[in-house]
Amino acid sequence: MSSPERVPVVIAGAGFAGLSTAMFLGTHGVPALVVERHPGLAEEIKARGVFPHAMEALRIGGVADRVHAAAGWRSAGDLAVVVADRLAGPVLRTVVAAADMPEITPERLSLASQGQVEPILADRAVELGAEIRFGTEVVRYEQDDDGVTVCLRQSGVEYQVRADYLVAADGWRSGIRDQSGIALRGRGVLGHMLRIFFEADLTAELAHLDGVAEGRRFALVHLVSAGNRGTFYTTGTPGRYGYFRSLTRHPGDYTGCDFAEMVRTGLELPDLEVAVVDVGETAFACDVAETFTAGRVLLVGDAAKVVPPTGGLGGTTAIMDGFYLAWKLAAVVTGQAGTSLLATHDAERRPVAEMIAEQQFAALVTRAEPGLADGTSVVPLDPATQAFGYRYATGGAVVREPGDDGALIEDPLAPTGRPGSRAPYVRLADGTSTTALFGKGFVLLCDSDSGSDHSWERAAAEVAERVGVGIAVHVIDDPEWHKKYGVGTGGAVLVRPDRFVAWRSTGSDSAADLEHAMRVVLHRTA
Ligand SMILES: Cc1cc2nc3c(=O)[nH]c(=O)nc-3n(C[C@H](O)[C@H](O)[C@H](O)COP(=O)(O)OP(=O)(O)OC[C@H]3O[C@@H](n4cnc5c(N)ncnc54)[C@H](O)[C@@H]3O)c2cc1C
Repeated sequence: MSSPERVPVVIAGAGFAGLSTAMFLGTHGVPALVVERHPGLAEEIKARGVFPHAMEALRIGGVADRVHAAAGWRSAGDLAVVVADRLAGPVLRTVVAAADMPEITPERLSLASQGQVEPILADRAVELGAEIRFGTEVVRYEQDDDGVTVCLRQSGVEYQVRADYLVAADGWRSGIRDQSGIALRGRGVLGHMLRIFFEADLTAELAHLDGVAEGRRFALVHLVSAGNRGTFYTTGTPGRYGYFRSLTRHPGDYTGCDFAEMVRTGLELPDLEVAVVDVGETAFACDVAETFTAGRVLLVGDAAKVVPPTGGLGGTTAIMDGFYLAWKLAAVVTGQAGTSLLATHDAERRPVAEMIAEQQFAALVTRAEPGLADGTSVVPLDPATQAFGYRYATGGAVVREPGDDGALIEDPLAPTGRPGSRAPYVRLADGTSTTALFGKGFVLLCDSDSGSDHSWERAAAEVAERVGVGIAVHVIDDPEWHKKYGVGTGGAVLVRPDRFVAWRSTGSDSAADLEHAMRVVLHRTA
């Protein structure tokens, strides 16, 4: 019998998480095999909007401009999430006014929908060497010391592929997670939401939300009038809208229902002409897997956590999971890092997932479903803090400093530059920024006062040679970087490929310390 095909990584699922993982593995030179049980990419209308932290990642992946182009015209402030009694207003409360964060990131929010972004990720992943096999599902897997044997089924025929690692990007009801014996922890299913997509002329009713009727702004209106709770939102196609009814405890039986009438009643517009386009029911859940790793199996996206959509960070977090996992996976499969680096996927990403889950639950309760309040909701954080303020506070691939308080969150407007935090954004004199320097590999930032003999550059070259991993050195001549990165004259900061600070030296150069930091981060201290 011939031995099965061998690939470095099999990814189950071609949604946000799987495609993102494949694309970013490609940027690090590792070709993945993505298998998707459906015959093509999903067409279901789900997420809309990609937050700026994910746009930073997508720029590193080489697709940020494609994503902006797909979303079409936009400007700052074109995202309106409001709470209102009725569609025609008045607005009682604005929840999100604009999601651009110019003090924190050079990137802008994109209003592209999941249906627009996924094909871009898929094309790019293939450009970078991935293969996507549609109509192919992971049936089961077995792992041993040398790899994972993945059993695939295509057109009823089963065959095996051998991989170094298996990435479970197979969504909320992940079969791979189940087979791995990983339980979900959290609030479980919160309820069932009927979604109705329809076409109607709402020009007059939406006039108070500037630009929404013409499709220039995305709007999500939580309707809270007594007896008629629901959520209305625009879809990107002018004249086409979505309406979510409030949660029901059990799945509904909608046989024979007049959905157009439900829209009219829900929007309190009894004479509205409504053409129903599509109807579906979605369960809202709020759960996080008890671990994100099981040996050679790594969980990303909804397989790792599922959150209610309020707050819009479920899909974005799925994209970011792929971004944060890919450099580690690539470093391990190419032999640059020790295999135990992959254990930090759980240590770093699970606390963030737990934070996002509780934030999205709190948003659901305060914006739309007060009946779910049980006194355990967290204090809501603003979107910028949720996107940019999280830290890898304990157990990650960083060299922690003495005195680090282990805080999971810090204010992205007052960054500390501590190891385990996102490398702060500093605009540079040439019009670019520190953020533009990150993404391809390790970066050492140092200042021009680090000695006329360029000693950090020499130290980095020596260490790169000894460790066998490149370190790009950038000399930054800007007082703001000292402040934001918390380093004095002669200091340096080592930034990981995912633009998180790995280590910093607040004093003068030391090749030995830099080498130690690289070895700690790459799990090669032995
Ligand atoms: C109604 C709704 C609205 C939402 N709105 C937003 C929003 O505004 N913003 C936001 O950020 N997020 C939103 N989300 C959440 C977002 O859509 C999800 O977080 C995102 O789709 C997760 O991506 P994923 O790749 O992890 O999983 P999925 O998109 O579920 O993809 C998993 C894929 O795996 C495939 N698969 C499953 N099992 C196998 C197998 N055994 N073998 C091969 N393939 C398999 C599936 O067919 C599927 O294509 C919303 C979700 C819903 C339901």
